[in-house]
Amino acid sequence: MKMKPDQITPMESESNAHLRQLASVGKIAAGIAHEVKNPLTAVKGFLQLLQQESSNQYIDIAHSELDNALTTLNNLLQVSKPDLEFEEYQTIHLSVELESILNLFQDKMYDITIITDFKNNDVTIVGKKSQFKKAFFNLIKNAFESMDGEGTLMIMHESVNNEVIVTIQDTGVGIPKDKLDLLGTPFFTTKDLGTGLGLTQVFSVIYQHGGRIVVDSEENQGTTFTIKIPQLNKKCNQGVKNLNLKFEENYCIKNFFFENRKVFEERLLEEAINVKGKIEEIRQIGNINLLDNAHKLVLFVVEEREHELISFAKQEGVAWAKYSLTLAFKLEWIQAIRRTLWDFLYHFDLLNKTEVDRVTFFMLEKSINKSIDLFLTYFFISYSTYKDELLDKQRNLVENLSVPIIPINDKICILPLIGMIDYLRISTIQDKVLTEIETHHIETLIIDLSGITPMEQEITNNFIKIIDGISMMGCKLIITGMRTEIVRSFTGLGISINHQAEFKGTLQLALNDFFTEKSQ
Ligand code: ADP
Ligand code: MG
Repeated sequence: MKMKPDQITPMESESNAHLRQLASVGKIAAGIAHEVKNPLTAVKGFLQLLQQESSNQYIDIAHSELDNALTTLNNLLQVSKPDLEFEEYQTIHLSVELESILNLFQDKMYDITIITDFKNNDVTIVGKKSQFKKAFFNLIKNAFESMDGEGTLMIMHESVNNEVIVTIQDTGVGIPKDKLDLLGTPFFTTKDLGTGLGLTQVFSVIYQHGGRIVVDSEENQGTTFTIKIPQLNKKCNQGVKNLNLKFEENYCIKNFFFENRKVFEERLLEEAINVKGKIEEIRQIGNINLLDNAHKLVLFVVEEREHELISFAKQEGVAWAKYSLTLAFKLEWIQAIRRTLWDFLYHFDLLNKTEVDRVTFFMLEKSINKSIDLFLTYFFISYSTYKDELLDKQRNLVENLSVPIIPINDKICILPLIGMIDYLRISTIQDKVLTEIETHHIETLIIDLSGITPMEQEITNNFIKIIDGISMMGCKLIITGMRTEIVRSFTGLGISINHQAEFKGTLQLALNDFFTEKSQ
């Protein structure tokens, strides 16, 4: 069978719109399937209970019909929303996969001639492998099913302009023109035992991978499905991109970057995929304009303005730390700037038509990479210094808060201690208590210990030193809330603190005592 080029269906020109439409039909169908599935599953459970109570043949029939309905819903859910099923993207060798699918149809090969034409045998695409295999299986199965008796199935693939094109051509019954638009719609089938879900799966997967489908068919002659899948061409991604840049004879490198600002930004955004969506957010949070900063960095790098570069890096590090912006974005951004910068330098060299010798080139390479590394180093140092200082301040604050000396009046203060007291905290207590007694002339300090956990021996020793210090400073000390375990840790040391402090059962008692004493 020979296909004429003008036989291309409306799907060629509108293939994307059609795919989108089908995808949304699929989504709606999947949504409904999901909603209907739950009540049906509940009904199934109740039917099972009914059957246990009194067995009845009608219940059996209802049960098996319900199972059919659930299977259909499950199939629909599976094929119309392939993104629901988690599957990693991986490299797929198309010729290998197509061969292995064809092998599944061994029994048909007596009547049907299979011709394969795999150009660029090592062609790969990146995607969800099992979904792709299922899609090609569905297409090949349909092709076989369209041919009753003898026929020819031809499968071709080739790589053209970063696209992999797979063609599956049969000499079967063909599809009437008025049915072409229905292809891919869930449950559209012309077969007695068909599910009408095969092409739904095919369209969903191809759509999800950014591909296109063209169907070309003539009744009683045959059908051709052409699938085009975008290919991630590694070589092209890693190599230097061809950019359309403005250049005049008298341009210095600075002019060159300035005049091509827009292209630089576009190229940079293409490179920094993750940062791209965050630019506005970062501008709002920290008032940082990433694009302007990129130009600034490039300028400092190409003009070798090292001092300015360092101070800029420091400033950026602080800003980044101050607004707690994600470090990974910065890293991606700088790496993207580096790549874009090199693309630009390549073009500058090309347009400039200067012959640069190897030594000069390597010197330039070294200097540019050194500048960018310098930026990164100073950025990270200033980022982490800022964060460390912040952490220290916060630690001091927390430590101070953990020793709250609360004045009751200008003579009396309370220090309620809560929680665990470790080495760091006991020394904060010591510092703070002695300083406060001195600066605020505290006459009476009430330390409440009702909320602390038992202290280690070493800590208890230090605590006794604080008690000594307080009495040495002439301050009266009242200790309240001594629980048995705390008392034990003091007596266990064989040291008496009775004469340095007064003891009260609770803080309330101490305060009561004090105020009644005063008011008498
Ligand atoms: P099913 O195969 O279960 O019918 P599909 O979604 O795979 O469901 O296909 C839907 C319909 O599209 C088929 O019933 C058939 O009418 C038509 N069709 C698909 N592929 C071909 C083909 N290669 N040749 C002829 N008709 C086809
Ligand atoms: Mg099918």
